[in-house]
Amino acid sequence: MSKRLVGIVGGVIVATATILYLALPTGDDLPEIQPVEVAVEQVPEIIEPEYRFGIEVNDFEILEGKIKRNQTFADLLLPYNVSRQDIYAIDRQSKAVFSVRNFVPGRKYTILYEDQPEKKAAYFIYEPTPMDYVVYQLKGSIDITMGEREVEIVEKTMAGRIQISLDHSIKQEGGSSALVSAMADLYGWQIDPRTLQKGDWFKIIYEDRLINGESIGIGKIIGAEFNHMKNSYMAYAHDDGTGLNYYDEVGESMQKAFMRYPVEFSRISSRYNPARFHPVLKRRTAHLGTDFAAGKGTPIKAASDGIIVNKGYTKGNGNYIKIKHNGTYTTGYLHMSKFARVKQGQRVKKGQIIGYVGKTGLATGYHLCFRFWKRGKQVDFLKEKLPAEKPLKGEPLLKFEAVVQLMDKKLDDIPTAWANKDISALADKP
Ligand SMILES: [Zn+2]
Repeated sequence: MSKRLVGIVGGVIVATATILYLALPTGDDLPEIQPVEVAVEQVPEIIEPEYRFGIEVNDFEILEGKIKRNQTFADLLLPYNVSRQDIYAIDRQSKAVFSVRNFVPGRKYTILYEDQPEKKAAYFIYEPTPMDYVVYQLKGSIDITMGEREVEIVEKTMAGRIQISLDHSIKQEGGSSALVSAMADLYGWQIDPRTLQKGDWFKIIYEDRLINGESIGIGKIIGAEFNHMKNSYMAYAHDDGTGLNYYDEVGESMQKAFMRYPVEFSRISSRYNPARFHPVLKRRTAHLGTDFAAGKGTPIKAASDGIIVNKGYTKGNGNYIKIKHNGTYTTGYLHMSKFARVKQGQRVKKGQIIGYVGKTGLATGYHLCFRFWKRGKQVDFLKEKLPAEKPLKGEPLLKFEAVVQLMDKKLDDIPTAWANKDISALADKP
């Protein structure tokens, strides 16, 4: 936490000015040139003390550098007249906070030192991340503390038009990969990125996180509009007290929920278990799915909206289908007896029948082996906290409507380069 103090230093300074004036000649007197001392208005001189890492640095010389390979704490501080004894003490004490032995080459450090009568380090600061720093106080008693820089959050806006892809357009407007992912995730349930068309456009209001005026990454998207095939898809961030969620203009959740179970089953015959004994292979192998025992031919349903990214057969999986739901979730359905009339690359709706229970591949009995990926990693579907699909109602909806009004105004105010171009093109016509 940086404190900003305004110190009045030096109190009052009386400026002295020498003013020359010509005395008007009176009678025989010779014109006389006379210096006069005038007291100019009293001006308090205000010096704003500069703080770094919570330390007032006005009285110090500052050396900044980056840790070099094989450079030790002693190498850094012996030239600044820190005794070997102190270096040893700091080395020992630092283990409880941030060991000086854990310095990584390439990371930043700062030495605050006095230059008179000889170079003497007062503080050493190491920055393990752009946000965190460790202050090793060398002046007086040794003291080691961790600090965190203040992250400033500023609201930024962007407007772009699709020419090649969302990724291309966002980057062209100076946005980061993180912003591309955030937008893709946000609209993952509404817009299929493969169907984006030239001329589709978007506006985004998002948070940029700054340290010392430099961006360290984005925060959340606050609001967005995606105009896809002449339809506007609105997104508003809102916390109704149960956590941040994204809603459309009428308060419907942007996230689609999953079906509790993708099949009607008699029992769960095998749970997700990273180390189970495989009944067919007769050895310990991870079971990264959930097995639902069910009669042959029981319909298997898509757990949520998505795109069939794989449809095929392997020796292990038998007939299987894999559905990508959005940037976060993908599901797999194994051992099917047969497929429903669906194609790879096809978009399916939640609850749509994609196949039928069987025991193809490595399976002993009729069951659906259901796989669930979260950000590319298989997880236990039964234990996952999945997105809610609860529309806002009553009081929370009223509060949300005020958010929508404010956000719509902000979105409207974002200038669009292509619209300006159209206007100026018209204006230029004779
Ligand atoms: Zn299984």
